Amino acid sequence: MAPQIYLDSNATNTVLPQAVLAARLAMEQDYGNPSSTHIAGLRAKALLESVRQRAARVLGAGDGRVVFTSGATEGIHTAVLSALVALRERRAAGQPIGRRLLYGATEHKAVPESLAHWNRLLGLDLEILALPVGGDGRHDLARLRTLAPDTALLCTMAANNETGVISDLAGIERELVASGSAALWLVDGVQALGKLPLNLCATRIDYAPFSGHKLYAPKGVGLLYVRAGAPFTPLMVGGGQESGWRSGTENMAGIAALGAVLAALEDGCTFRAPAQLAAFRDQLAGSLRSAFAGLRFNAPFDMALPTTLNFSVPEVSSKELLNLFDAAGLRVSAGSACSSGQAEPSHVLEAMRLPAWCSGSAIRLSFGPLVDAATIAAACDAIARCGRALEEPVRLEPVEGAPSSAGLRQAQPERGAGVDRNGGVERSGGVEQGWRFEDHAIADAASLHDFLQQHPDVVLVDVREACEHRVGGGVVMGGVTALNVPMANLPAHAERWLRPDTAPPLVFICRSGQRAMQAAARMRCLGHAQAWHLAGGLAAHPAETADLISQ
Ligand code: PLP
Repeated sequence: MAPQIYLDSNATNTVLPQAVLAARLAMEQDYGNPSSTHIAGLRAKALLESVRQRAARVLGAGDGRVVFTSGATEGIHTAVLSALVALRERRAAGQPIGRRLLYGATEHKAVPESLAHWNRLLGLDLEILALPVGGDGRHDLARLRTLAPDTALLCTMAANNETGVISDLAGIERELVASGSAALWLVDGVQALGKLPLNLCATRIDYAPFSGHKLYAPKGVGLLYVRAGAPFTPLMVGGGQESGWRSGTENMAGIAALGAVLAALEDGCTFRAPAQLAAFRDQLAGSLRSAFAGLRFNAPFDMALPTTLNFSVPEVSSKELLNLFDAAGLRVSAGSACSSGQAEPSHVLEAMRLPAWCSGSAIRLSFGPLVDAATIAAACDAIARCGRALEEPVRLEPVEGAPSSAGLRQAQPERGAGVDRNGGVERSGGVEQGWRFEDHAIADAASLHDFLQQHPDVVLVDVREACEHRVGGGVVMGGVTALNVPMANLPAHAERWLRPDTAPPLVFICRSGQRAMQAAARMRCLGHAQAWHLAGGLAAHPAETADLISQ
């Protein structure tokens, strides 16, 4: 398969080599529990506190506190819980608290979900309102001006994960101060860490959560900044770790690794300067523009992090482009990683009121400050190949001797057959009784190998689009070359495969296994019992099948 070019850093990242080493040392040598009072514990404690001090310097925490968490979702929940508990206490004491929880319309889902969760559980029953953003993705400050006096908690991210748009935090603070608002203020700093200068103690921000894995630390470690004097309620109580602010034995491997990343930020030699990152963005933007006619960028570059490009190509859906890029080895994302499994358009682009085609076709391409020129050049090359592959006219393969496929296109389940909850056909008493889409799955490379041995007449069918096939190359498994039959061409081929004299066993393959599963189900629906699919697709068969899969 095509070598991987990873451009999805806003979703997650590789781990910095120094961070891998630090985690390893924390697991193999300094593995004490920081709560233990012997020397092993004291060493772990010293490491923990040195990382905390480093984090405090990087964030500009001043006399505020830095608490270790499992990541930003936990940090957001802790901050929201802390704010809402304080509001409830103030209200019980007869103090005015404002009547709403206000959040930026483009926040990560963790924010509105957390607000709704704790508002309900704590019985506060405050209004939860999205603060609109403009077409540039920035908060509507005029609207904030009118809402701020009545707001109890305000949540506004520092930079957006889908578009890279940088919030005008100074402008938001001005509105809060000018309106005399007593609102508590949560700023999700996840996408800002390592990319924007931070000096939190010089601001009015009460809470700022961060996540290690967005900046080359491992998943499962994060930070929460809490302004000195801001109300705090722990999310978890127990052994009293983190001075009682977050119980549970600390994730020392993750914290040590995060410390190494913070050290790299402080030394200033590891990560690339913003100007260099902006030059990389321009290079990618140029390649994208020349590869795809009519391409539109969905956020203004001068207001966004240089490491995020969000764009749409007319008449090419996010899914199609993502499949194509993946075939070329380019790992990108459709909108945010959390929602890319769903077909819904991005709430961020919708909040920016971009035309529907833009949110339906949006692709996010993001890189981290560790990226190198060779990766960007390889990405540009892959983008150009994808553009060419998309331009080539789609050839509908003629099928020798096949009669018209019109009847099969319309094929319906037999009379009396039921369609199960997965869309498969249940034939009472037939071989297919009770199957679901997941049935007839070949689970792993070894099973596939056995299957191919046992069925020398098998037809391997690669149902990826012809353009994916073109950029990624063909597939050979166990010496069998796959036939490329995109989903739209399936009915024509089905005619031949269904002839009783030839009916070969079929194994469908694709990128993730989804389309292959549907193709196999469709064939079984048409009466071809021997239709299988490779579960997990080509993505799940990398190293083990290196000898089986080739271009
Ligand atoms: N906030 C933003 C802006 C994010 O991008 C993410 C992750 O995608 C989160 C919060 C959640 O972070 P975590 O994965 O650490 O829980």
